[in-house]
Formats: sequence, C-alpha cells, structure tokens
Amino acid sequence: EITLGVLALQGAFREHIEYFQKVIESHPQEYSKFTFTFIEVKTEDQLRRCDSLVIPGGESTSISLIAERTNLLQPLMDYVKSENPIWGTCAGLIFLSKQLKNGRVGQKLLGGLNVEVTRNAFGRQLDSFESPLDFSSFIPDCHAFPTVFIRAPVITELLHDGPTESKSESDSIFYSQNNYNNKAPIEVLHSLKNHGKIDHELIVAVRQGHILGTSFHPELATDDYRFHKWYIDEFVVKSKNKSTDI
Ligand code: GLN
Repeated sequence: EITLGVLALQGAFREHIEYFQKVIESHPQEYSKFTFTFIEVKTEDQLRRCDSLVIPGGESTSISLIAERTNLLQPLMDYVKSENPIWGTCAGLIFLSKQLKNGRVGQKLLGGLNVEVTRNAFGRQLDSFESPLDFSSFIPDCHAFPTVFIRAPVITELLHDGPTESKSESDSIFYSQNNYNNKAPIEVLHSLKNHGKIDHELIVAVRQGHILGTSFHPELATDDYRFHKWYIDEFVVKSKNKSTDI
C-alpha cells in the first residue's frame, strides 16, 4: 500500500492526481504488487498518511498563507525532514526552497532544498511558454518532453555549503525558518542554456536526495505521463522498497 498525497490548498493539484492515476492505469502489470492511493492533502492527518507528497504549482504566497492559516505550515516543515519523497512544481519549488529572491512579504519557505530560487524569473514578456526539453539524461529515452512554464521560478544558486544563517531581509532575499539542513548532494537535472533575451544558464530542475524541484508543470503536458511515471519509479517505489528491505 502506497499513499501519495498532493497538497491541495491552492493551485493545480487535481491535475497531478489525474496524471498519477493515468500512470498506474496504463501499466497494470508493472505496478501489480502495489496498491496506490492518491489523496488530496488539506489537513495534518492526511499529511501523516502520505508516503510521498507533491506540492503543485499555483501561487506560492497563497499556498504558504493558507498553510499557515490552517496550521499546516509546521507539519509541512517537519514532513520535509522525513525521508519521504517530495516533489514541488513551480510554486511548489518556491515553497520548498531555502532562499528566495523576489518573494512577497510574509511568504514562508519549507527549506527542504538548499537552493536559492528566484520567483517570476522569466519576466513579463515571457510570462508563459512551452518548450520541448531533452530529459534523456535522467528519464530513459525522454528526448522531447513538452514542458509548460507559467510565471515560472528558476534556481539561481546552489547552496552547497548548506543554508546561510537567516540574515536580515534588507537584501530582499527571504530565508526559510525551518531548522533543517538537507545533507544530500544537489544535482542539477536540467538547465536552459539561455532563453529569449536572457543569456545565462537557467536551472529548471534539481534533485537533492529525497526532494525534487521543477520550474515547469509536467502535470500540464498534454497526455504525456512520462515525468510522473519517472517520479513514481525513481522516488516513490524506490523509497518504498528501501524501507521494506530492512
Ligand atoms: N509565480 C508563481 C508564484 O510565485 C508560480 C507560478 C506557478 O506555479 N505556475 O508562486
């Protein structure tokens, strides 16, 4: 029995659940030894049931404010410290970061990924766009995955030495208040060499141990479930097998 939860406070949570269901339905043999349950997570009790959590895209300030208002912020901060796999897309990536540029006052960060993220990094002209990206270096044979970027953040710094101690916010950088330091190495899974008028590298997918963050929305990739399948195989099933091996 594997329970995969999608944080359902705001944003594109239903799409994630549909995509995961499609993956299981279309590979019945492959997953026959597991029973998957996909749930929307709005309460601490629901969060406790989850073997893995996905934080969807939407609006990161709203997600953090609703989490605070519903007493879910601390449970979420504790959840990132557990070894359970977590995946944040877009606003979810922002929420999982240690450091945030271009954040909004009052916005809280879960601090699971030792990276600096910059919100709305593509600027007004490039509010949203689609682009086929080559993910074959980590997803077998996935040479052109249809990625959707919507007012997307990018990862602007890898904090290899661990997070900076919370400084004042005068330099317009926000810091997570979660006292957790993810010790796993930070892997850049994909970066764009440049984009439009932006002529430097833009990191759009990272992994740090049990936590995955993507700038884009694979749950909006029309009928392409490969990214969700990879997450189930590489994160969820592997961590389940590890815990039953012992
Ligand atoms: N710009 C949004 C934010 O700051 C993220 C956009 C998205 O999730 N598609 O939270």
